[in-house]
Amino acid sequence: MTITLTDDKRKAAQEVADTLGAARYIVLTTHVNPDGDGLGSEVGLAHLLRAQGRTVVIANPTPTPARFDFLFRDLPELDRSREAVRAIRKADTIVVLDIADSTRLGVLGAEVSGRQVPVVCIDHHASPGTLPAGPRFVDPSVAATGELIYEIAVANDWPVNTSTARALYVALMTDTGGFRFSNTHPRTLRVAADLLETGIDPESIYLDVYATAPEGRPRLLAATLETLVVEPEYGLAWVTVPPGAIERYGVTPDDLDGVVEHPRSISGVRLAILFRELSQGRIKVSLRSVGDVNVATFAHALGGGGHAKAAGVALPGTMAEVQAMILTAAREYLSNTNGS
Ligand code: AMP
Ligand code: MN
Ligand code: MN
Repeated sequence: MTITLTDDKRKAAQEVADTLGAARYIVLTTHVNPDGDGLGSEVGLAHLLRAQGRTVVIANPTPTPARFDFLFRDLPELDRSREAVRAIRKADTIVVLDIADSTRLGVLGAEVSGRQVPVVCIDHHASPGTLPAGPRFVDPSVAATGELIYEIAVANDWPVNTSTARALYVALMTDTGGFRFSNTHPRTLRVAADLLETGIDPESIYLDVYATAPEGRPRLLAATLETLVVEPEYGLAWVTVPPGAIERYGVTPDDLDGVVEHPRSISGVRLAILFRELSQGRIKVSLRSVGDVNVATFAHALGGGGHAKAAGVALPGTMAEVQAMILTAAREYLSNTNGS
């Protein structure tokens, strides 16, 4: 173990453990379209809690993408997302991971807010969120929520076995884009090193997460990259998922993970955007930035959120309406933000 914790963090981590130690039926949940950090943090925490003799299940607002099924191999009954509302109603303690805002809990938002039970929040987003009161373990400076789960284990002397380590490594690896993004701090790599010390195999984890794609994933990527538009004068580039493409290629929104890195990779681009039509006449806007452009501020002003270099928002309207609005705002934002 190579990391140390501040007294404040140690105290907060112990408060979380006290709340969970008193619980009889713990439900873990994360944001809609769960990602590697949300799922890895849930599975890692579930292993830790089971080792402490707790009863724990996972119940997410939308299904687990197939590429993360491997995380559940040694916990067959853990994922109750198909009956998530029922699980939340049965919980005597709820843990919300990788999000602090009840609106991003989809159908579970109202359920979680309506229960009169402790709601623990473990998260690394900057926004304070709208969850009911409960113990908080929040730190926007860490790369992934999985890092916070590791800190909770360290603070409470909970042993980290290989199953826990694998899940938390997935959380760190996915939220840092394979330890490449600007959120990859020395401490992130120290935590990753501690996890590898347990004996997990980084290559097999990489293959499980990234190299088991359905054929539709590269086809969806190709169709989406066809739509690329670049405006060098603003440092702006965007791509649009063609209508119906996800269904046509037999894939899920999770298969779009990383697509927005392509417009971001263009020399001179400071803001990259991926547009995707959600059901119910809403458009999802994924924002990625380079240098000192802060997309969290941009997304927040529109009702979304995220991190300085990776943020998002969902807006009502047609694709044409939302694109016109976002692109106008983006050009203005970029004009007012000096390149670095
Ligand atoms: P994504 O573009 O979906 O990969 O999300 C990038 C970051 O923005 C993540 O940290 C999300 O939590 C955040 N984010 C995405 N969509 C929203 C939204 N509708 N509201 C608030 N935050 C969002
Ligand atoms: Mn996430
Ligand atoms: Mn995260």
